Amino acid sequence: CATASSASDLPVETAANAARPSRILVAEDNRINQIIVSECLRAQGYMVDIVPDGKQAVDAVRNGAYDLILMDCQMPEMDGFEATREIRRLEADGNAKRRMIPVVALTANAIKGDRERCLEAGMNDYVTKPINQQALMTAIARQLRSRENHDQSPRQHAKSEDHPLAPFDVSVLVERCMGNLDSAAQVLDEFERQVKDDLQKIEQGLARFDAHDVAAVAHALKGAAGMLSAEQLTDNASKLEQLGQEQNLSEATQLLESLHEQVQRCLAYLPEARKQIT
Ligand code: MN
Repeated sequence: CATASSASDLPVETAANAARPSRILVAEDNRINQIIVSECLRAQGYMVDIVPDGKQAVDAVRNGAYDLILMDCQMPEMDGFEATREIRRLEADGNAKRRMIPVVALTANAIKGDRERCLEAGMNDYVTKPINQQALMTAIARQLRSRENHDQSPRQHAKSEDHPLAPFDVSVLVERCMGNLDSAAQVLDEFERQVKDDLQKIEQGLARFDAHDVAAVAHALKGAAGMLSAEQLTDNASKLEQLGQEQNLSEATQLLESLHEQVQRCLAYLPEARKQIT
């Protein structure tokens, strides 16, 4: 996957043809999003490289020829905005392997003004999280000017109505994974690991009166919960993030109990969720 392509000077317009699959760089720090996005892309026949921060994205562009970049906005080390500006500088100076690689932003919040920030940084389009695979593929195809019409209809799976008390919807997760049950299972494993970890970090953050840290971890938890469409957990994590941002630690502490409960419900549902996809 990392070998240099001799076709690196092909114009972007021909990238979608079958002779040379388009190569996409995914810059994203969240493990769950890495799995979902890369499986989606690979299922569509794209070649995928993943980097966890903006600095490594810039290095990858310096060393490899990419047809498109998916750029998370919020990342450690260097965020997506700064990384994109840096990439545009490299391209202008002739230090990138390609001219004007299309950059599609992945933004956590559909905040007004985010779009402007993305465009201002030199990004070409954006998709909001939790990532909807259809929207993602549409944005990518638009940027690659794909002539082909990929069949993107995911396999049909058990609907959530079968499990009215389920804390999250396995069929939505499977859809996000383009029907790939292996990657859905991987996401569940990663979810289990991450939420336990996040909950512990939130408790520690509250004990240290570190509102900033609580907000940051709650943000990550919200992202993980959103991916599984665990609505109550997403809501709770979102509230906690806001309380952290407002430095309102007493209310944040009060929220901890129901957050705990939501996490436990999700964890308790995992065996059933795994059964549904095996
Ligand atoms: Mn991120």
